[in-house]
Amino acid sequence: MIAVLHLILIGAPGSGKGTQAKRLVSKFDIVHISTGDMLREAVHSGSDLGELISTYLRAGRLVPDNHVTALVEERVDRGDVPNGFVIDGYPRTINQIQAFADLMKARSRRLAAVVCIDVPDVSVISRMANRRIDPETGRIYNLNLKADWPSLDIMERLVQRDDDRPDVIKQRLDTYRAETEPVIEAYRGTGELIEVNGSGTPDEVFERVTHGLATVTESS
Ligand code: AMP
Repeated sequence: MIAVLHLILIGAPGSGKGTQAKRLVSKFDIVHISTGDMLREAVHSGSDLGELISTYLRAGRLVPDNHVTALVEERVDRGDVPNGFVIDGYPRTINQIQAFADLMKARSRRLAAVVCIDVPDVSVISRMANRRIDPETGRIYNLNLKADWPSLDIMERLVQRDDDRPDVIKQRLDTYRAETEPVIEAYRGTGELIEVNGSGTPDEVFERVTHGLATVTESS
C-alpha cells in the first residue's frame, strides 16, 4: 500500500460522497476535507464572512472560488495531513481545478485519482429530501432506510439541512449540472477519473470505490 494518497471525491449533492469519504479515511488513514462542512462551520461561527457564505448556501448556489480555495489551502497546511487526504466537494468549478492544481504543485503533492460517484437524479433527490442530522453527534440518517432509523429519543431531535429543502435541492442540482459536470469532463480528459456506480448500499458502493482505486493504490 502507498504511503501518501490524495483523492478527490466528486458527485451530485446527495450521491453519498460524505459517507464514502469517511470509509476511505479509515481504510487509508487519510484526512477528510469537506468544503461543505467547512463552509457550514464558517456560517455557524457567526463571522461576517460566515454571514456572506450563508446567503450562498441557503440559495443552493456556489460560494465564490477564492473563499473556498482559501479554506482548502488553510486546511491542507494545518500540518496533520502526512498520509494525504480525500477532498469531497472541491473542485466544483473549472476555475477551482486550476486553483487546486496550483496549490498541490506548490506543496509538491500529487493527485492520485478523482472518484466520481454516479447516482440517478431521482435517487439523489429522494436521498436529500430524506436526509436528517442529529445535531448532538453530527450523525446523518436516511429516513428512507427503516433499518437506519435511530431510537425515538434521537428521532425527535433530528434536523434537516436548510439546503435539503425541495426548492433549494432543485437549485443545487441545476448548479451541479452547470458548474460541476464540466469539472468531471475535464478530469475524464486527463485520465485521472474513476467512475463508480453509486446505487446500492454504502458497502456495495465502497466495494466498487476500492476496486476502482486498486490500480492507483498498488502502483503509486
Ligand atoms: P455540500 O455539503 O458539499 O453539498 O456543500 C454544501 C454547499 O456548500 C453547496 O451547495 C455550496 O453552496 C457550498 N460549497 C461546497 N463546496 C463548494 C465549492 N467547492 N465551491 C463553492 N461552493 C461550495
